[in-house]
Amino acid sequence: MAAEIIAVGSELLLGQIVNTNARFLSQHLASLGVDVFYHTVVGDNSSRLQSAIEMAEKRSDLILFTGGLGPTKDDLTKETIARHLHKELVMDEEAMRSIEAYFKKTNRPMTENNRKQALVLADSQVLPNDHGMAPGMMLSVKEHTYMLLPGPPKEMQPMFLHYGMAALSQELNLHEKIVSRVLRFFGIGESALETEIEDLIDKQTNPTIAPLAADGEVTLRLTAKHQDENLAKQMLDETEQEIRSRVGQYLYGYDHTSLIRELVRMLKEQNYTIAAAESLTGGLFQAEMTSIPGTSVFLKGGVVCYTNESKRKLLNVKEETLEAFGAVSEQCASELAENVATLLNADIGISFTGVAGPTEAEGKPVGTVYIGISFRGKPAVVEKLALAGTRDANRIRSVKYGCYSLLTLLKKSQAGI
Ligand code: ATP
Repeated sequence: MAAEIIAVGSELLLGQIVNTNARFLSQHLASLGVDVFYHTVVGDNSSRLQSAIEMAEKRSDLILFTGGLGPTKDDLTKETIARHLHKELVMDEEAMRSIEAYFKKTNRPMTENNRKQALVLADSQVLPNDHGMAPGMMLSVKEHTYMLLPGPPKEMQPMFLHYGMAALSQELNLHEKIVSRVLRFFGIGESALETEIEDLIDKQTNPTIAPLAADGEVTLRLTAKHQDENLAKQMLDETEQEIRSRVGQYLYGYDHTSLIRELVRMLKEQNYTIAAAESLTGGLFQAEMTSIPGTSVFLKGGVVCYTNESKRKLLNVKEETLEAFGAVSEQCASELAENVATLLNADIGISFTGVAGPTEAEGKPVGTVYIGISFRGKPAVVEKLALAGTRDANRIRSVKYGCYSLLTLLKKSQAGI
């Protein structure tokens, strides 16, 4: 089953909007086990759309269209397809009723061209539009299946999820269940991770293994197909086990979680309170923490100590430390973490100090970062990073490293190591 998505709209070609519909549909078609081989974009022009359809029919079994179902003159997707397939456009009573109801509800007069939206391809299965007016359609002619969806994502997405996927599964006899799992890694680069599991990636067929890297994290999406959902899950378990045996120490979570979420969960579980001293991250760590509800139970608070003066006055960093080693140093990170825990009466103190960029500081290169973690009463553990990103990326990555380092320490302490 080879599929192609044709997005219709001159706005896309002009760069005014991004083709997010193609991304959405590709992701969901993959979950149905349908391979998308082509994304096509064509403007609001009937003859060019006609050529795109002819081209698609040569190489794809399933062709999905988005856009151009509206009431205006430049909306010509279904008219072009109707002509091409020698199908009439017929009034769909149900769609007409819902369009009339929409105008009544919004107390607006209905113009004649809105009737056009209730016209559907003869013999097609109509897909209701619960968030707008133009209905979608699915139709099979000879060896091809065509699905027409509206352009606005807020209409297209629910239509596809609620009606389109089921219609396709039935039409195309897609009996296999698709089960996916995302494994999330930190502390290992994409290429290093891929090297570790290269042979698994090379021989993958079912389950498939798809690596993706973003914001310093690497994810692996495992997808298994089987008629029996439980067996598909079992196949995922086996592949995950194999991956874990090689790079398990970097695996921190599944699916939609994040480092900060995992850290929050672990702090709660172990009943620890925390305080932060933030220089280069300027409060980013605490902002991330407080984005998760219920943080007040364990986040005591913290200090944004950007200048040496604030490090000295608010967090009691010794003058000699700053003079001898500078603010971007292991010694400073250590004092910041230890002192913030004591001052705020927290079980754990964490500190971030470094050179975010764009220029070096204290003779230390951009990307030099020290993260201190101190369990109250104990000397801090300090990690030195040499990051290579932009200013913002370095700050974000520092927070992630801080979360990851603390998470690793908490896991070790939980395991009694
Ligand atoms: P309408 O009834 O709103 O005219 P339509 O089905 O005719 O809907 P278009 O007119 O082609 O759709 O597009 C309407 C809007 O939908 C666009 O202005 C844009 O905001 C959004 N849109 C269209 N195509 C895409 C796409 N491929 N990706 C993301 N957004 C899109």
